[in-house]
Amino acid sequence: MDQIKAYGVLNATQPLGPLQIIRRLIGANDVAINITYCGVCHSDIHQARNEWRNSLYPMVPGHEIVGIVADVGTNVKKFKIGDKVGVGCLVDSCRDCLDCREGLEQFCLKPIFTYNCLEKDNKTLAQGGYSTKIVVDQDFVLRIPDNLPLDQAAPLLCAGITTYSPLHHWNVGPGKRVAIIGLGGLGHMAVKIAHAMKAEVTVLSRTLDKGDDAKRLGSDHVYATNDPKTFEKLSRHFDLIINTVSVKLDWGAYLGLLKRDGCMVLLGVPTDAPELQASPLIMARRSLAGSLIGGIKETQEMLNFCGQHNITSDIELISIDKINEAYERIIKADVKYRFVIDIASLK
Ligand code: NAP
Ligand code: ZN
Ligand code: ZN
Repeated sequence: MDQIKAYGVLNATQPLGPLQIIRRLIGANDVAINITYCGVCHSDIHQARNEWRNSLYPMVPGHEIVGIVADVGTNVKKFKIGDKVGVGCLVDSCRDCLDCREGLEQFCLKPIFTYNCLEKDNKTLAQGGYSTKIVVDQDFVLRIPDNLPLDQAAPLLCAGITTYSPLHHWNVGPGKRVAIIGLGGLGHMAVKIAHAMKAEVTVLSRTLDKGDDAKRLGSDHVYATNDPKTFEKLSRHFDLIINTVSVKLDWGAYLGLLKRDGCMVLLGVPTDAPELQASPLIMARRSLAGSLIGGIKETQEMLNFCGQHNITSDIELISIDKINEAYERIIKADVKYRFVIDIASLK
């Protein structure tokens, strides 16, 4: 066992602070990674604070992990020492169910998430990327394209794949009108990726304050959702809406912005359920769907797509001692557009 430095929480109410955690010794199929950067996802906050009522403590959050391979097990052929790699929200799965066999490990009934989950031995708590090192089975390690700077690539491991997956699944491309609700960590990646897929992209933000940024990131149009006229102007307008907001919204009003057969995909996870009438769905055969991160194969496909299109995240690099402040700023939507922790500050 290796004792390593980390940052995390002991319970739902205290701030994050330094912790020592244990990583397993490298097994035959494992890759040991020296973590260089870790992105800060809103899901880290939900879980650190037990907002989904399933938190396991002590908890070291972080599932947008990038780093350099430090060692490989005897069976590892895909990676070598010195490679630039990433780890996202999954570190293993049952590998046997239909979802696993179809490369959709995120829907496995026994997924092993990077943190807030038990490891395969069913007793060790999995711990995330606010730490100096991680040991992961080679099948759950991703390769980062060489042209992408590691710090800006880190958020691709969650925000990138979570938005790429539904855009890809719902066939976004030329001639499709896509709206992104919420210009935060997920939202800004959705804009960049949908733009690279050649869709017509609209940002629906609460105000027009982020309007110039939205255009710079690749959106064709920006509307403020605090203006009721937006909902009149854009009635029956979009093929697909990607909703990244983590609080209760009037889903019915947003469904009205879809064309016939359009779909709104939920990515944000509100803790209290919005009320939804059937009529906005029935009146134009619309659908409401959800999507969860992406499988390993698709995550590598997304990384390669981002490599080809030179897509990375707009980040604010922080030292680990700024993490509690960063959480507060994320909650106020005061981040442009993802915090990334420089893990050198933890060593
Ligand atoms: P984020 O950076 O905080 O962005 C959320 C955005 O939502 C904000 O930038 C803001 O956009 C908007 N927003 C915030 N508060 C709002 C309010 N009170 N009313 C309306 N809009 C509000 O968060 P994130 O990291 O992108 O994550 C977003 C959600 O997705 C979280 O719930 C997270 O847990 C979830 N998530 C889901 C998956 C999945 O697989 N489904 C994966 C990762 C994360 P504007 O300022 O532009 O309005
Ligand atoms: Zn995440
Ligand atoms: Zn499975």
